[in-house]
Amino acid sequence: MSIRENSTHYIGGAWCEGHSEHQLNLFNPATGDRIASFSVSSSVDVDNAVRSASAAFKTWSGINPHKRAERLCELADAIEARISTIASAMTREQGKPLPEAGGEVAKLVKTLRYYAGEAVRICGQIIPNEDDGFQSQVEYEPIGVAAAITPWNYPAELIGWKLGAALAAGCTLVIKPSEYAPLTAIEILRAIDQVDLPKGVVNLVQGAGEVGSELVRHPAIDKIAFTGSHATGLQIYEAMGRIKSVSLELGGTCPLVVAASADLDAAVAGAVRRSFRNMGQICIAINRTYVHRSLYDEFLERVAAATQELRIGNGLMDTSVDLGPMTNADGLAKVEAHVKDALDSGARLICGAKAPDSMGGLFYEPTVLADCNPDMLVMHEETFGPVLGVCAFDDLDAVIEHINDSPYGLAAYAYANDLQEVYRLSRGLSFGSVGINCVDAGIINAPYGGRRQSGVGYEHGRAGLDGYLLLKHVRVKHGIRC
Ligand code: ADP
Repeated sequence: MSIRENSTHYIGGAWCEGHSEHQLNLFNPATGDRIASFSVSSSVDVDNAVRSASAAFKTWSGINPHKRAERLCELADAIEARISTIASAMTREQGKPLPEAGGEVAKLVKTLRYYAGEAVRICGQIIPNEDDGFQSQVEYEPIGVAAAITPWNYPAELIGWKLGAALAAGCTLVIKPSEYAPLTAIEILRAIDQVDLPKGVVNLVQGAGEVGSELVRHPAIDKIAFTGSHATGLQIYEAMGRIKSVSLELGGTCPLVVAASADLDAAVAGAVRRSFRNMGQICIAINRTYVHRSLYDEFLERVAAATQELRIGNGLMDTSVDLGPMTNADGLAKVEAHVKDALDSGARLICGAKAPDSMGGLFYEPTVLADCNPDMLVMHEETFGPVLGVCAFDDLDAVIEHINDSPYGLAAYAYANDLQEVYRLSRGLSFGSVGINCVDAGIINAPYGGRRQSGVGYEHGRAGLDGYLLLKHVRVKHGIRC
């Protein structure tokens, strides 16, 4: 994709360039080729974007919700018409195979349609009063200007969750995508530019943490919607400097339990899918797996076979591959460090743990490590890469207790067919999402959020919309006695 001059930022309904002296240099992780280079946002650019969003808030929040829903549907259509363009930008900068990138954009479209429907279901309440002659009504109002700070692993979907909910609620938005995935965001904004939205409703700034941090501290930002690492989430929490609404969707070290009654074929398929899809670069990826001792050897044997069948390659050139490269060198270094730590501490290598032969780029073979213990990084820290640590367990209740004893609580998965085991797992696992006999726990109309250090607030569903709304209690003394 070529970047047209002056087309990296979108502020007040117009394309422009960034004015910082810092350049963003972007590389294709499959080839190492430089694919873009442009100036990121200066403080003035950030301020202009926030001011545009503030000015647009009056108009957008006052528009009839049915009209807002129509605009969201139009936006969904405009993005749908550009799926292949957005997807190829994503594959070039992020590395995931092209069909997977296309699937992600299709999910963004679905999200916008879902929130178009929710826009006209924002209903208040009438509350009974103890005293006659009064009526209490509860109304919802949009929060104001939201900052969407997003990561590179799902660069379209994670903008979409915030965009859909914010616009449905009547909020305006400044988006700052990851410095590793600016092109996907630019393509999404090109679709937004085609829709008849008031100028300034959606704005795009560019850059790394410094630009994100400017947005976070800007006094006219009323809500921060962030998805990214725990470390950055904590920095944001501490740096806000004033009271604002915030949703943080952070990492986890997500567990999988394969109970004694599990369907082993299903468990193996789930483990391989949720550990390695998108090269494990997903906050709900399975990091650590606990297999009942009676199934342990067979599980490892079958997981090894299924993992070795995965095809790795440049997903822009060969759309049939299962896995692309890691997105950046820091991520790859972390993966190598976790694997080394486990092997040095006595883990048994089942497969992987090296770069595929003669591929260049940031490729790494999906890796399975057996006989892991809780002290190994892979069993208690988010690897954010294609590594699956496995260990055996004997007692289900004890393993659930052990799994919950983690600072993180985003998602957990379990395979079991015995009703009592299912119940103990679904009740016992203290995580924001729990997938039983499935590893796709996120659906657009159910809440998604982390517990403990995995975040605060929710995205998806009605709860995701509520994060952009304020409650107002209006108590009217009308004097009519019933
Ligand atoms: P990831 O590696 O998962 O993308 P990060 O947390 O590093 O995780 O980045 C997520 C998003 O947060 C990116 O858009 C990044 O530029 C932005 N970011 C990084 N540091 C800060 C910060 N201190 N304040 C605000 N945003 C930040």
